[in-house]
Amino acid sequence: MPVERITLQEALREIYSVLDDETFQRGLRTGVRNAEGRFLKILAEHPELEQLARMVEKAKKEVISKIDYYIDMAMKSLERVHARAYLVHTAEEARETVLRIVGSRKLVIFSKSMVAEELKLREALEEAGNEVWETDMGELLIQLSGGKPMHTTAPAIHMSRFEAAKLLSKKLGIRLSENPTPEEIVSAVRDILRDKFVRADVGISGGNALAADSGSIVLVENEGNIRLVTGLPPVHIAIMGVEKIVPTLQHALAAAIVQAAWAGLYPPTYINVISGPSSTSDIERKRVYGAHGPREVHVVLVDNGRVRAARHEVLSEQLKCIRCGRCQWECPVWQQTANVWGGPAYGGPMGIGWTAITLGVKEAAELSMLCLSCGRCDEVCPVRVPLSSIIRWLKRQYASSLDKG
Ligand code: SF4
Ligand code: SF4
Repeated sequence: MPVERITLQEALREIYSVLDDETFQRGLRTGVRNAEGRFLKILAEHPELEQLARMVEKAKKEVISKIDYYIDMAMKSLERVHARAYLVHTAEEARETVLRIVGSRKLVIFSKSMVAEELKLREALEEAGNEVWETDMGELLIQLSGGKPMHTTAPAIHMSRFEAAKLLSKKLGIRLSENPTPEEIVSAVRDILRDKFVRADVGISGGNALAADSGSIVLVENEGNIRLVTGLPPVHIAIMGVEKIVPTLQHALAAAIVQAAWAGLYPPTYINVISGPSSTSDIERKRVYGAHGPREVHVVLVDNGRVRAARHEVLSEQLKCIRCGRCQWECPVWQQTANVWGGPAYGGPMGIGWTAITLGVKEAAELSMLCLSCGRCDEVCPVRVPLSSIIRWLKRQYASSLDKG
């Protein structure tokens, strides 16, 4: 299942269509309005977070400069805590690896993962005959609508509660009142998903960071679905880009806190640390794996262009990204188009760089031409990814491809 490549003309058609879509624009405006101010308040009340962000930036730079060394260290640490580690180089290899672990006719629950989106993993699992459920509220709406997430941390930002209710009623037969409240919708989804959490064979998550020294995966969340996805099924698969590796557990926790704060969710409700499968030695002091949590933990580390990018003067900077989505909220183009601009999986300012890394410079270079070069994205990034410079470099690639053409 190859990731779709779209031409600039196709991308423009989609962009024009959402610019003319009053419901989309209204939903996006409401979402942006409700998010505004939250970030500034958090940073004003917690100036110490800035110091933590500097620590994360330094840790990210260190790993990017020695990517092979840290991949090797992380894989050894994962095996030491009885997790199984896989390094996959392409999207196809990633899908095959996950499909081999999962098999078919399984009930699979997902927590939101942009890497899974990049790999079209949910679709591949469904095609192999599995029943797959997204458990993040917004991502479930995206799954039901058949679209793509419109923001890194708020995937259904463009949908009003009325559209969400209509979708849930059409696809899942959930009956809601004529004027549904967000509380009513959340409660109905919770009822449907409870049974899936309990019966699931496999839970698939992403990960905010992976500590190379301890083999611990750290995941931050507010909904509580990640702890159920990673804790209830007998098998847990974490799928993560190799850029998520940081040197130590301390750095991994810092990365999760910074991600949550810059996403406007501080303090985070939950931080999950997973160091291998659950176990007990309470019976005759013999270690048994698979106590109340999973008995197997598989960690699939995805390259898909990242290792090559780590050696690239410009694109390596994008690998510092912790996917907080802050640059998207700030971008005047994103505020009109959401993730419809940026590439098939990612979107907005960070999306252009990620598209260049995971899909190709040519695709991203075309899309970069829609950037206004205002530099607002640079100002807000917690790990100082020079987004507008990356985009400027891509614009130059596009211009020189025209010269050659
Ligand atoms: S420089 Fe480009 S990507 Fe960044 S905020 Fe401005 S328009 Fe958006
Ligand atoms: S580029 Fe920076 S602001 Fe944008 S998502 Fe990544 S870390 Fe956040």
